[in-house]
Amino acid sequence: MQRITILGATGSIGESTLDVVGRHPDRFSVFALTARRSHARLLEQCLVHEPAYAVLAERDAAATLRASLAERGSRTEVLDGPHAAAEVAAASETDLVMAAIVGAAGLEPTLAAARAGKTILLANKEAIVMAGQVFLGAVRDGGATVLPIDSEHNAVFQCLPAGGRRDGVRRIVLTASGGPFRSFDVARMAAVTPEQAVAHPNWSMGRKISVDSATMMNKGLELIEAHFLFDMPADRLDVVIHPQSIVHSMVEYVDGSILAQLGNPDMRTPIAHALAFPGRIDSGVSMLDLATHGRLDFERPDPGRFPCLRLAREALSAGAAAPCVLNAANEMTVDAFLERRIRFTDIARINEAVLDALGAARAPSDTAEVLALDARARECAGVRLAEAAA
Ligand code: NAD
Ligand code: MG
Repeated sequence: MQRITILGATGSIGESTLDVVGRHPDRFSVFALTARRSHARLLEQCLVHEPAYAVLAERDAAATLRASLAERGSRTEVLDGPHAAAEVAAASETDLVMAAIVGAAGLEPTLAAARAGKTILLANKEAIVMAGQVFLGAVRDGGATVLPIDSEHNAVFQCLPAGGRRDGVRRIVLTASGGPFRSFDVARMAAVTPEQAVAHPNWSMGRKISVDSATMMNKGLELIEAHFLFDMPADRLDVVIHPQSIVHSMVEYVDGSILAQLGNPDMRTPIAHALAFPGRIDSGVSMLDLATHGRLDFERPDPGRFPCLRLAREALSAGAAAPCVLNAANEMTVDAFLERRIRFTDIARINEAVLDALGAARAPSDTAEVLALDARARECAGVRLAEAAA
């Protein structure tokens, strides 16, 4: 029996994880579930999965959940405050930690899981992009294991030689759907609304990653994620547009072989893969029927129309502070776009201005420096956002 903590349980990845876990009550029990403030959804999850702990970052929401659980005679204990998620992620009673909080907010509990030597199922790409070597250092020092959940990275992991070796690997090729605006010109993109941007053609996901898919910053963050996870230099990482999202990514070998992982676009597949690794379990995902699809298309991305992809490449090549700065700027600009304070095309423009201003700063060497750099980049983005809104 393995005990799991799900950070970000009420989100898209969190819900999919509970769906898979719930199919295998003989293999998994839920130790803790965390969220920011969605007490109503967390209450339902607690009543079904009966975790030892439920965590809400926001105190008032936690008080509501505590009262509702007590009323129903639940034995789940409710914790709150900024560090409670890190406590349950590092607790000795948990074996697996699903890191599925969106954004920099997920860094602290994910680092706590790393230092405590947990098996981390990593969905929260922003954590590894912003903390890079600091995150990998915590994984090493804590003796933790990281299994990728991001569908592309999970696909690559499945296609690499067993045991994390790199023998004969020439390149890693990440596939990208191109998002809802794949064929839009820049003028059309300037006018798109948040509703259009979050309506992804193939995947149902949280709002932030949906906007990132529309700008293709998501693929840029994934290039940086792949660099850190698989220790691959920038010139051996490529992106190809594949609108059907059936091929989830590929590994090229020196002999001309290309291995790919295919499947219907449903995150329960990579989640089940990581939960059972190195075994396999049912995920609830229907089998892919290639004859029904008929065709798979591939094309090169257009960095002219998707400047965020170019910015991420630049940040990856520059290294040091650049990935953390770009990630922080992007979290701020995506929020501003979702709140209708800036246009869609302002996201890349402001991200670039912040990267130009701070990207050459010294690489952060510990968690405190990562958080300080993140805060500086957010402040810089805040100034640019205020100018844009004025
Ligand atoms: P989501 O917005 O649906 O859910 C986010 C979860 O994090 C929620 O449970 C929310 O309560 C919690 N949360 C948000 N802010 C928080 C804060 N400040 N403190 C504590 N908890 C907070 O997001 P999602 O789509 O599930 O994505 C989660 C992560 O997984 C992201 O990093 C995303 O890039 C990555 N990811 C998602 C998908 C997908 O299909 N959804 C695919 C690949 C990678
Ligand atoms: Mg992905």
